[in-house]
This record gives sequence, structure tokens and C-alpha cells, in this order.
Amino acid sequence: MKLESYQSMDREELKRRVANVKREYGKRLLILGHYYQQDEVIEFSDHQGDSFALAKAGAANKDAEYIIFCGVHFMAESSVILARKGQRVFMPDPDAGCPLADMANIEQVEDAWAALEKAGAAKDIVPITYINSSAELKAFCGKNGGIVCTSSNAANAFDWALSKKKKIFFFPDEHLGRNTANVKGFKKNEMVLWDPLEENGGVNPKALAEAKIILWKGHCHVHTYFNLEHVKHAREKYPGCKVVVHPECSEEVVKASDASGSTSFLKKFAEEAKAGSTVVIGTEINLVHRLARENPTKNIVPLARSLCPNMFKTSLADLCYVLENLPEVNEIEVAAYIIDEAKVALQRMLEL
Ligand code: SF4
Repeated sequence: MKLESYQSMDREELKRRVANVKREYGKRLLILGHYYQQDEVIEFSDHQGDSFALAKAGAANKDAEYIIFCGVHFMAESSVILARKGQRVFMPDPDAGCPLADMANIEQVEDAWAALEKAGAAKDIVPITYINSSAELKAFCGKNGGIVCTSSNAANAFDWALSKKKKIFFFPDEHLGRNTANVKGFKKNEMVLWDPLEENGGVNPKALAEAKIILWKGHCHVHTYFNLEHVKHAREKYPGCKVVVHPECSEEVVKASDASGSTSFLKKFAEEAKAGSTVVIGTEINLVHRLARENPTKNIVPLARSLCPNMFKTSLADLCYVLENLPEVNEIEVAAYIIDEAKVALQRMLEL
């Protein structure tokens, strides 16, 4: 049956069909749902989590042959990289990408590296890629003495890198890189911004020689949507509230907040807040709404309404379509040599 036929089915019919396929496959099937997914998808997920936790959950499951990754493309790729032998990974909507991950492609990163080599700087640099990046970028880091990091272990990845060499080349999220460098005490003049659209990244040789952290010019539009006005407004509206944000937010917003951390950190913050208190959260709206429902004794509110349209793409109809057509549609594949090299960089992260 074609995808269009599922899109015209009513919700109850889709639910019944998804539940049937889950029953039929039993433990051979594992559905993973990222925290930012729609509730109708989360309802059928065997695990919820951030991208790395889900990829690990898939690989840790000895019975699962078919992993259905409800998230965006780079996440499903990470799941393929970490998968056990014989496991296959599928996406309900393989067109769900991540604009942040797409802001650095392998050709651009290789060009940048060649420019850094030409400038005589590459020998002193460890490349770090945020997990929100393509498998090819992870492989690049594996091949060039680098590492992968998540938003929860970026500071440890910085320490690891600087124990090896003098400088870090961080991609593709400028803001996570800058916020992490701030936490580690780096000064403004120790950071430069590498714009892949400009010659030599738009960085002059003197600034490059002095820099300790080279930040790729990339951002997550969902998190950079938040601004200082939002923080000010929240503090006026909810006196005494705590404002907590994701480190993909801008430096100004992170500095104006009470705390900043990964999705798992934000979730824990909401869970551990005192009953009756107000927590204002700056991250994807579907997650904030879910946290509000899961913590009814606290007032959990969004800093502003910011939705990830790519995460929102995956619907119950897409999930039903991929399940009823297993294993014929939407398989995510990564070339074996990329998997091998990417695993090296992921393994380094796991050993942090
Ligand atoms: Fe990418 Fe941002 Fe959406 Fe996450 S929230 S998938 S980083 S665009």
C-alpha cells in the first residue's frame, strides 16, 4: 500500500494497525522515539531519549532485528553505525533531516581542513564533531584523530582534545562550541568563527595563529530562535522562576539563564524542581509540553514556542507505513568504510 493511503486513514485505524505489527514482530522490532517527536509517535516508542541514548539502546537490544528510528536522519545514521551485526535501521520519514547537521558537509569540512593544513595549523588541531552531523563527518574525525561529542559531554571532549593537541576545530554548531568554550574559561580572542562560504573561512592568519578554538559557522534555528527579550519577559511574568536552556542557544541567552544543558539535563531539571515552582525551558516545544504533562505539580512553561519542523514531520501514518512495509521501504544505509571510521570517533567518546 502506498504512503498516501495511510495518510488518509483515521487515527484509530492507524493505531490499531501499528499495534498489530508490534504484536506480530514482538521483540524482533524496536521503535525508538526522540524526545522532540509528536505524542502520537512517542505513544508507540519502546524507548524515548536523545539521539545518542537511542542509538545505544538499539545496539544494546540483543533481540531487535528491525530498528525504527523516529527522529531525524543523522540520528538514524548513528543508530546504523552503532548497530549490532544483523540489525537493520529504518525511518518512518527519511526526508526528516536536521538543518544544523546540513550546515557542514564533508566537502566543506575537507576543504577547510586542507586550508588549515596549508596554513600549517592542522597538525596542532583536533577535530570535534557534534553528534548532530552526518556519518561522513564522524568518519572524518575518526580518520583525523578527532572525536564525536554530545551536548552533555562536550566539555569532556574539549578536555580530551586539548590533552592531545593545542587547538580544537569544532563543527557544525557554533553555539554549542562557544558555550562549551565559555564554560572551560576560554576568552573571546581565543575563538574564531570559520565561515565555510568564505575563503580560508574568513579567518585572518594572525587570528588563526592565536586561536585555540575554531568554531564552524552553523546553528540550530530552533534554539537560536530564543532571545534576551524572551528571558526578560519570562522573569517578569514568573518572578522567582528558573530559566533553563539548551546549549545550542546563543551565548547571550545561555548567560542570561539560570542553567544550561542537554535535553536529558533539562528533563531532569524539570523532574527535580520543587512542587509549585516555575521552570521556564528554552528548547523544542513538543518536549516542553510533554515535560509539563509529566510534572503536573510544577509549572513547566516554554521560553517561547519553537518547533522543530523536521522532528514534526514524522507522523503516525509514516510509522504505520514503514511498519507494514518492513523491510522493503525507508532503510537507512551507511557505507561500511564510513561506519568503521565513524566508530573510531564514537568509541573515543565512549571512553571519555
Ligand atoms: Fe536539528 Fe535543531 Fe531540529 Fe535538533 S532541534 S533536529 S538540532 S534543527
